[in-house]
Amino acid sequence: MRTTDYDIIVIGAGPGGYETAASAAASGLRVMLAERGELGGTCLNRGCIPTKALCRSAEVALTAGNAASYGIDAGNISVDYRRVAERKDEVVRSLREAVEYVLGKVDVVHGDARLLSRDTVEVNGDIYVAPKIIIATGSRPAVLDIPGAELCVDSDFLLSATELPESIAIIGGGVIGMEFASVLNAFGVDVTVLEYSREILPGFDADVAKRLRTALKRRGISIVTGANVVSVEAGCTVNYELKGKPKSVGASMVLMAVGRRPVLPDGLRELGVALDRGFIAVDDSMATNIPGIYAVGDVNGRCLLAHAATLQGQVALGHRALPRYIPGAVFSIPECASVGLTEDACLAQGLQVSAGQAIYRASGKAMAMGEPDGMVKMIVDRNTGEILGCHICGAHAADMVQEVSVAMECGITACALMETVHIHPTLSELLPMALNNALR
Ligand code: NAD
Repeated sequence: MRTTDYDIIVIGAGPGGYETAASAAASGLRVMLAERGELGGTCLNRGCIPTKALCRSAEVALTAGNAASYGIDAGNISVDYRRVAERKDEVVRSLREAVEYVLGKVDVVHGDARLLSRDTVEVNGDIYVAPKIIIATGSRPAVLDIPGAELCVDSDFLLSATELPESIAIIGGGVIGMEFASVLNAFGVDVTVLEYSREILPGFDADVAKRLRTALKRRGISIVTGANVVSVEAGCTVNYELKGKPKSVGASMVLMAVGRRPVLPDGLRELGVALDRGFIAVDDSMATNIPGIYAVGDVNGRCLLAHAATLQGQVALGHRALPRYIPGAVFSIPECASVGLTEDACLAQGLQVSAGQAIYRASGKAMAMGEPDGMVKMIVDRNTGEILGCHICGAHAADMVQEVSVAMECGITACALMETVHIHPTLSELLPMALNNALR
């Protein structure tokens, strides 16, 4: 048994952990990073990156299948999923090498980290001591407590599959459910989504969610909202209740995508670290109730997004404060993205707002791209002209929402953003169009 002293110990090498460790080391601190799996965490190995690689292949499949509408004869189109999966793995592999490079000045220890005290961690029988410990252990798929739950696969399984099922029933029409529904449908899988709430993507702007649901239904995806899944039977039959009536749907595979649960390191409870709904409770500096122990990323349950984890790591290091806004996106086809408050949330807060929409069909660029299906919605405070929210469903939604994030973070008013000259023809012209409709 060895004992080594550090300035900071980070547990977990996802985007919360590895970026924090690299940043701390770059500022001259001695940093140890413990990881029991592969570098990159959920985002790189079982989340954002592999799904985006699959999403790109799905876009190519859809575009190639639709080539005739662009005047291109592409012949017969077929999907070789084994090669799709190989490409995804290659993307992940090369990015993992980049993570190793970024961690050049960090002592990476591979193994299961256990907290022994507020400044001591044990990995593989060795002891590591530091005045600051940052927990970035992430999350794993949640499992519904229903009979037959063990018959379902999760997103981790699907992302490592090299073959696709003929059909799939997806329990949960949240972010993961809609991304997989969209991608699998593009590869020819027969998809049914069962969502408990009245609309898919609960928490998103209702107009955006409805537009995505309509677009995906048009692509042949069956989406049942208000469906309370009660059990899964062998042979992949999913039983659910709809308006009090029993219903069922059969498929060759069932994906459960009903949220994620935190992964807590051993020793945490014994130390008395406070939890909130099972996640590690933190304040705005990412500090737990135990001095010296911090938690960033999914494990604190504040915002289950990779970029939020990275940001929180910077906050935990004291390099910056939390921003007012964190934008997010759903990488479905078409994409959805949002920043700030939804219209419903504004109304619930008693804010006096104006909402304005612009549809992609009104954009020369969208029409030229063959992407007429989409909308931009801007929400403006009627009294102050402040932009309170932006919600987009359509091609390149995630890229477009960034401009509004900058405006909102910097306090740029709706008028000022509207008067900013936008290049013609670009999709971003839809932003001033929507603002103009909000301010009329
Ligand atoms: P989620 O919370 O987004 O959605 C889960 C869905 O399951 C909800 O819509 C919920 O109403 C539904 N549900 C729950 N119980 C049900 C039942 N009995 N029957 C039918 N439906 C039921 O969770 P997720 O999609 O699993 O994603 C997990 C987390 O990961 C989210 O916080 C998400 O933001 C994050 N994530 C983000 C991205 C991204 O940023 N692009 C991608 C993937 C995941």
